[in-house]
Amino acid sequence: MTFYSAEKINLMGLNKAALEEFCISLGEKPYRAIQIIKWIHQRGVSDISNMTDLSKDFRIKLSEVSEIKVPEVSEEKISQDGTRKWLLKIGEKDLVEMVLIPEGNRSTLCVSSQAGCAVDCSFCATGKQGFSRNLELSEIIGQVWIAANSFGLPREPNSKNITNVVMMGMGEPLLNFEPVVEAMNLMTDDNAYGLSKRKVTLSTSGIVPKIDELSKVTDISLTISLHAPNNELRDQLVPINKKYPIEQLLDSVKRYVDSCNDKRVTTIEYILIDGINDQLEHARELSEVLEKLPSKINLIPFNAFEGSNYLKPSGNRVKRFQKYLQDKGYVTTIRSTRGDDIMAACGQLVGQVNDRTRRKERFKNQIKTKAI
Ligand code: SAH
Ligand code: SF4
Repeated sequence: MTFYSAEKINLMGLNKAALEEFCISLGEKPYRAIQIIKWIHQRGVSDISNMTDLSKDFRIKLSEVSEIKVPEVSEEKISQDGTRKWLLKIGEKDLVEMVLIPEGNRSTLCVSSQAGCAVDCSFCATGKQGFSRNLELSEIIGQVWIAANSFGLPREPNSKNITNVVMMGMGEPLLNFEPVVEAMNLMTDDNAYGLSKRKVTLSTSGIVPKIDELSKVTDISLTISLHAPNNELRDQLVPINKKYPIEQLLDSVKRYVDSCNDKRVTTIEYILIDGINDQLEHARELSEVLEKLPSKINLIPFNAFEGSNYLKPSGNRVKRFQKYLQDKGYVTTIRSTRGDDIMAACGQLVGQVNDRTRRKERFKNQIKTKAI
């Protein structure tokens, strides 16, 4: 990697190896990288001059050629239930959203990986707006940094204000593979956010080859957005299913789970849409299709958004579906809707992406080049 650039290097966008190289290029020892990572990610520091265990000369040199930059907060909303949503400006044109959900002594951060999404699931507000661009490492880990700093500065190392991170905001994380993996590595790095691998979750619509690739580089928690128990229905709800049908998807998940060092139960997300996929027949099919995969099922009553004709099923229908699966022996939970009043619930994240033509073009390219 060459670091010569007219622009300053953003230290937020460098992983440990790149930061080591950068330190060496400035005539410093590579272990300085860990000190810098600790200042940025454990302490929430954005001013290089505050990194007091680096020599003054090095701090001056570092400030001349680098900086610490995260997405700009364009708007922040707090829901009646305590859920917080940030609208973040990504580059000149795009806006993405991230959501922090407090729950007892846990705080779960829902992070975006792309501006928009190319997968275009029929029930998803993000998908409906199309794809604009992949987020860079600095823009993904920058979300965690912003949320962690929102608890107040100076941050104490190991304060663990954020206890869980889910890659369930805008975008399909496996279609932005490298920056997402790098960001998750920082989330689980003891010198950065120090979260356990079980508390960092990647949710995917099912990009099969990328699940296999993921198993080679990490063993964070994996959640599958299944939403339908057969290919005919899933083709309509999650169009990527035409490329990677259910059997292939579940086989790849099995391979992923087998590659983990410890025993794993995979969470299966299933949105319940009134009259579409919420009949008992679907519950029966689902219980059969998941038979060979140790899994628990998370039912998500469909969250409405403008422009969608789908409806949320009644509470009784949701409970009936849950009971069927429970009677079959599956741990089955119903996800409570959080932050509905500020449109922060699952599938309601839209941010804003611009230029429809560009989006459509990129969408086609992305499906062609990335989802293979
Ligand atoms: N692209 C990834 C991660 C982001 S979507 C994926 O699909 O898994 C995060 C979650 O929100 C997924 O489980 C998705 O299915 C769910 N979701 C999307 N639209 C929704 C809606 N309208 N109501 C409820 N959940 C929704
Ligand atoms: Fe993309 Fe996930 Fe929305 Fe599908 S549900 S369109 S994969 S963000």
